Amino acid sequence: MAAIRSINPATGEQLAVFEEDDDTVVEAKLAAAAAAVPQLAAAGWEQRAAWMNAAAALLESEVHTVAAMITAEMGKPLAQSRAEVGKSAHAMRFYAENARSFLDGRELADPSEVSASAARTRYDPLGVVLAVMPWNYPIWQVVRFAAPALMAGNAGVLKHASNVPQSAVYLGELFERAGFPDGSFATLLIGSARVADVIRDRRVAAVTLTGSEGAGRSIAATAGDVLKKAVLELGGSDPFIVMPSADLDAAVEVAVRARTTNNGQACINAKRFIVHADVYDAFAAKFAEQMRRLVIGDPAEPHTEVGPLATEGGRRDIEELVEDARDKGAEILTGGARPDRDGGWFYEPTVVAGLTRDMRLWSEEAFGPVASLYRAASLDEALAIANGTEFGLGSAFWSADQAEIDRAVREIEAGAVFVNGMTISYPELPFGGIKRSGYGRELSVEGIREFTNLKTVWIG
Ligand code: NDP
Repeated sequence: MAAIRSINPATGEQLAVFEEDDDTVVEAKLAAAAAAVPQLAAAGWEQRAAWMNAAAALLESEVHTVAAMITAEMGKPLAQSRAEVGKSAHAMRFYAENARSFLDGRELADPSEVSASAARTRYDPLGVVLAVMPWNYPIWQVVRFAAPALMAGNAGVLKHASNVPQSAVYLGELFERAGFPDGSFATLLIGSARVADVIRDRRVAAVTLTGSEGAGRSIAATAGDVLKKAVLELGGSDPFIVMPSADLDAAVEVAVRARTTNNGQACINAKRFIVHADVYDAFAAKFAEQMRRLVIGDPAEPHTEVGPLATEGGRRDIEELVEDARDKGAEILTGGARPDRDGGWFYEPTVVAGLTRDMRLWSEEAFGPVASLYRAASLDEALAIANGTEFGLGSAFWSADQAEIDRAVREIEAGAVFVNGMTISYPELPFGGIKRSGYGRELSVEGIREFTNLKTVWIG
């Protein structure tokens, strides 16, 4: 079995090595997960909520060690790791409190219309659900699946990204430490080549993926082959549109955060900044200046605003995208190079302008701190550029003009539109995309219903 390594992206230092689970271990974990499903059902809402609240309390009590682990393992600034832990605990409590009402069925008001004495709906758990998860929010991405799944009465098995095994192992123990029955939530330490076998396993009812398009295609193909439900949260190249009536200083400040949060490695980072010609020059100057001033460095240091890319390959991808644009005539307003420091997979916050369609950056996702700047002569053109992509995850629209806002909310092709703000996920709001950003929804009431059986009950 291959080794799974945890490597500090700020230094290249190896932090820990784990052995892959062999087939016997995977078999035991799947059997335990299947055995946990009836126990979860028998426990009932209040008991599951008590366990979930206990898991939230445990996670919160361990915030310092967990945040340090996240930062060491994938490189986000420490304050953002702490925020990730806090948000995850909040989501657990949110589902502990609301799962029952979200999964309340409805009673048909007039059952005689269907020749019944009573008719209603109910949401039953599906069974064991496989979660294939990415490294960029190694705790949050998993919790936003696990909290609703466990509260609905499903068991979960996690195949986490290979570069965050410490987070994977921590999560594989958290829920049972909080009191959930053995097997309720387990980590499978396996490589991606073994995912298809797990999806095909008769005990696995469904699969959810957050990751790249390639992984999405492969997982959806296997799930389709065995006719199992799949939810896919894939990449994004979110537009951030700025119109002349917008508060420009606020838009610039939020634009910088929207592009560089998580070292620029979030699916919902704003990636394409589409600015009306009337304010383009002012926006470009301020935006480039503030991107240039960001503090790059060791993510464990409190003043660091941008840490390294999580993997060497991730930095190479970003470098190639920027070089391709530069070679084809784009203008680099700031950045465009590795910073002058030893070790680690760092890349400067970068702003690229003058993009043309032949450049890869026009159509591909930049998963790092690289912003593409577009000039639009009108709202029509801004919306055309925003929608001229195969992705459709989040979006942001900045304007003080209500008619413009109404049009943008209606016409932007994305799973979310944030007006005068930046796209953020909240447990209270559904999250997901359209087009090649995937299908299905996570979070809120819609998220918890994805892995349930909506059962119709008819009583004669
Ligand atoms: P990957 O798709 O490579 O990795 C995500 C997960 O999928 C990992 O657990 C990985 O395992 C697994 N995986 C990869 N290939 C396969 C496969 N063929 N079959 C089964 N499982 C597979 O993503 P990246 O690491 O490249 O992350 C960046 C991409 O993910 C970006 O495109 C980004 O937009 C997207 N993403 C989307 C998010 C969203 O919420 N929509 C959030 C985060 C990232 P292993 O590590 O072992 O390869």
